[in-house]
Amino acid sequence: MPGTAGRPGVYLNDRVLLLEEAKVSVLDHGFLYGDGVYETMRVYDGVVFMMEEHLARLERSASLIELRLPKSAGRIKLAIFETLEACGQKDAYLRVTVSRGEGPIGLDPSLCPRPTFFIFADRLKHPPRSNYEEGIALAIVDTRRNLREALDPRIKSLNFLNNILAGIEARKMGANEALMLNNEGLAAEGTTSNVFFVMDGALCTPSPECGILEGITREVVLGLARRLDIKVVEGAFGTAEISGAGEVFITSTIAEVVPVRQVIQKTEGGASQSKKFPVGPVTKLLMAEYRKEVSSYVENTKAAGPSIWGFTE
Ligand code: PMP
Repeated sequence: MPGTAGRPGVYLNDRVLLLEEAKVSVLDHGFLYGDGVYETMRVYDGVVFMMEEHLARLERSASLIELRLPKSAGRIKLAIFETLEACGQKDAYLRVTVSRGEGPIGLDPSLCPRPTFFIFADRLKHPPRSNYEEGIALAIVDTRRNLREALDPRIKSLNFLNNILAGIEARKMGANEALMLNNEGLAAEGTTSNVFFVMDGALCTPSPECGILEGITREVVLGLARRLDIKVVEGAFGTAEISGAGEVFITSTIAEVVPVRQVIQKTEGGASQSKKFPVGPVTKLLMAEYRKEVSSYVENTKAAGPSIWGFTE
């Protein structure tokens, strides 16, 4: 759509709109109950990194809440391209949201005949450079990650209060991100990130059984580590193991690989103590390898030609 470049790209249900034109009903069950799913993707030089994987996770999240996506993967890709074109940004933040849709008050999904489909793309706001050079502070918070049996963390849902409350707690403790423990007191994940640490030369990260969202960046990093012959341990880890680690970092689609310089923890008496970490060699290596991986993905995708990013239907 001409005339929209430089503004956010917005696609609602079946077309590109200006942001101010895009309106959703107050009776949308996404708004009323947090009933819906979403994906956040990062666009590098016009290419959506790991788009297939994100769309597969969107499909899985939707199927876990018995929500039928209103479009095929091919149609969603087409809508993504239209949104990016409207946005006109080559390095962008991109979010695809699907809610249960509008319906009368009541929890029953069958009240909502048509899901609401929404894409939002905007210029990427880069995290500060110091996050990568010096690292961020991570706080081990009291807010526990939702019990896996109560709300499956594999569902990337609009119901984000668990993570929001953990984030509020982390900020009060002077940290950039929270480390949430599961109900057994074992490390799970950040509010919007997965956590890794290096112990005795091995790269360790909580396994899916600990109750995490299986991050796409996490998968890429695990793949890179295996390729580099770094020993990988997906397991169950307590806070003492993290405090005793040599290096700690977090991963997410938007932030990529981010070193942790400090882990803050509450003591018995309610005061807080912190442990410092260097930006160590394994973290540095994986940060560099991740960027290389992104570059080759972008190059290969572009080289695949004008059938933009493999769209077929
Ligand atoms: N855990 C949670 C709870 C998240 O919201 C995210 C961000 N999507 C992640 C982990 C990291 O996942 P990804 O690498 O796919 O962005």
